[in-house]
Amino acid sequence: MLRKKLPFLHSLLSPVSRHVGNLTGHQYDVIVVGGGHAGTEAAAAAARVGAETLLITQKIHTIGALSCNPSLGGVGKGQLVKEVDALDGLCGRAGDWAGIHFSILNRRKGPAVWGPRAQLDRQRYRDFIQSELLSTPRLTVVEGSVEELLVTEPNPEEPGHHRVTGIRLANGSHAISARSVVLTTGTFLSGSLFMGQTTSPGGRIGDAPSSAGLSHTLRERLGLRTGRLRTGTPPRIVKDSVDLSLAKLHLPDSHPTPFSFLNTHTHCKPEEQLPCYLTFTTPGVERVVRESLQLNCHIQQDTKGPRYCPSIESRVLRFPGRSHQVWLEPEGVTSDLLYPQGLSMTMPPDIQLRLIREIPPMRRAEIHTPGYGVQYDFVCPTQLSPALQVKSTQGLFLAGQINGTTGYEEAAAQGLWAGANAARSALSMPTVTLSRTESYIGVLIDDLVSRGVTEPYRMFTSRAEFRTSLRPDNADLRLTPKGFEEVGCVSSVRYQESLRVRNSLQDALTALQALFLSTSRWKKKLPSVPISETKSTLLTGLDLLQYNDVTFEMLASAFPESLSSFMEFAQRLKIEAVYKPHCDLNKKEIERIQREENMSLPQDIDYFSLPVSLSDEVREILDRVRPSTLGAATRLEGITPAAVVNLLNYVRVTE
Ligand code: FAD
Repeated sequence: MLRKKLPFLHSLLSPVSRHVGNLTGHQYDVIVVGGGHAGTEAAAAAARVGAETLLITQKIHTIGALSCNPSLGGVGKGQLVKEVDALDGLCGRAGDWAGIHFSILNRRKGPAVWGPRAQLDRQRYRDFIQSELLSTPRLTVVEGSVEELLVTEPNPEEPGHHRVTGIRLANGSHAISARSVVLTTGTFLSGSLFMGQTTSPGGRIGDAPSSAGLSHTLRERLGLRTGRLRTGTPPRIVKDSVDLSLAKLHLPDSHPTPFSFLNTHTHCKPEEQLPCYLTFTTPGVERVVRESLQLNCHIQQDTKGPRYCPSIESRVLRFPGRSHQVWLEPEGVTSDLLYPQGLSMTMPPDIQLRLIREIPPMRRAEIHTPGYGVQYDFVCPTQLSPALQVKSTQGLFLAGQINGTTGYEEAAAQGLWAGANAARSALSMPTVTLSRTESYIGVLIDDLVSRGVTEPYRMFTSRAEFRTSLRPDNADLRLTPKGFEEVGCVSSVRYQESLRVRNSLQDALTALQALFLSTSRWKKKLPSVPISETKSTLLTGLDLLQYNDVTFEMLASAFPESLSSFMEFAQRLKIEAVYKPHCDLNKKEIERIQREENMSLPQDIDYFSLPVSLSDEVREILDRVRPSTLGAATRLEGITPAAVVNLLNYVRVTE
């Protein structure tokens, strides 16, 4: 179910948002700076954990704004949305409210790497996030721009170590105290916008950058290393000016799958969903890009951009002579605009118009807002702990694009974790971590803090070694109990629901295993199912469910007395059955590593020539540190569980 109808926003704004001036001298547990995807999740999570929280953002009406594409989820990113939802975050439910075209990507592959995705109505997404935040207990939201972080002088016994004590606002007059501060300034830290040969200060079109004072505090006062990255966005196109009959129609899934574990259906009815359209670039597009290169200063710079979401200029220059996909996507139910995904560009506006008119459906298209690029500072994330706290500054947490990531989902995931930890730290509770073996969020954070970034980081399923266990369908089983029992960021309603689901799935699996029949009896019971000959003459219901052509519904109709009460979980049970052997193996490997903690690693081992699958990066770390035991290797930053398994296998064989 969708939890509630949205209240009228204006009635919420006045009682909850306060004038900044009234807050001077006030002590908060947590201050979150920035109301983007990281900041909103951070503020909501901190308040859920029990902290008196203040969210300060430049403009309240841009809270929940989708700066670039109007979509959520996808391959790898959809897993993050499911995990944020399992920890009671906002973005999954917001996606279910605002989605206008739902599809599961990667369906040809196994369900572990399916990518739940939705095209969103921008306004509805914003409304939902604002409504949730402005009605969250213990959370105050104010408009303002943070100029400076307040920190203590370094501790003489621990040089370079500070403690955050609050923030100062841009006009210099208002200082607000807090035990923890979460910085989520996105693309705004020393942000510059680029279009053609014009550069102007800005974090996003229409929004000023973060003040230089904030970068100064981070670099000069706290001594943090920063770098510079870039990204860009396409022009928005007037829908009526596009001939969509010349593009390929792409329909959504007929049954939209909600992101949230609390929802059984989406706000948009199946028949109300809007289509997307696919078209391709022509040689004319490449010609326009090449002819205008000297007028395009963003593309001429060395700053690294998002490799997996490249601009049309980068695509054309990297793959000359190719035709590139362009998706024409709706921006909302009542919006007159289309979002041309794949056409991020930074050339002058008149050339942008020339370029898009080289694509057949857009021969007469009009541009509503030109594309542009943004360059911004990020803080090298290896300076953070796995709780996303700056190692040298007690109480300062960073999340989102400021840590070198790109994407709403990556930002939301970090925001939730940083916010929960900031609250725990402020309330004198120990911080908590998520491992690579239990979540994509753990993979994301571990990659950031142990390896750092050299280009904008985005999530892929290939980054998760144990992806067969970290599936979108089971994020609630993996994370909701931990979120309630250990972190405190999950409501008891959601926790109770996750226990009900867990117990029912367990009962259903037991019932399936109890159906223990000979192959011939199975064939009699399910004549339509092509059960190929197996070595075993006895099969359980669970064995049978692992066959491609066998569904839970078939088994339930053959054995209604033991299975029909679990029909609600038919798809989840099918996926559980298919992945059970892989997951059991993963579990055994993880347990084996834990058992072999004290196994000695030979000190003369030549890690560079070891004949096992280890990345160059892992070999270098092992060679440099030379851990004495397997347990010590496991705890090294940058060493993945898969690397430890390979190392363990090698040492066991050669012993
Ligand atoms: P943001 O969503 O940027 O939010 C930052 C918030 O902090 C804003 O609300 C801002 O007002 C506030 N703020 C900043 N400084 C201060 C301050 N000093 N005081 C108070 N408030 C402050 N992602 C992709 O995955 N693919 C893309 O192709 C892509 N293209 C992009 C193109 C552009 C032009 C932009 C701007 C972003 C693009 N993104 C893209 C990135 C995507 O928007 C971000 O990854 C995501 O929004 C990051 O979330 P965040 O919360 O870290 O920061």
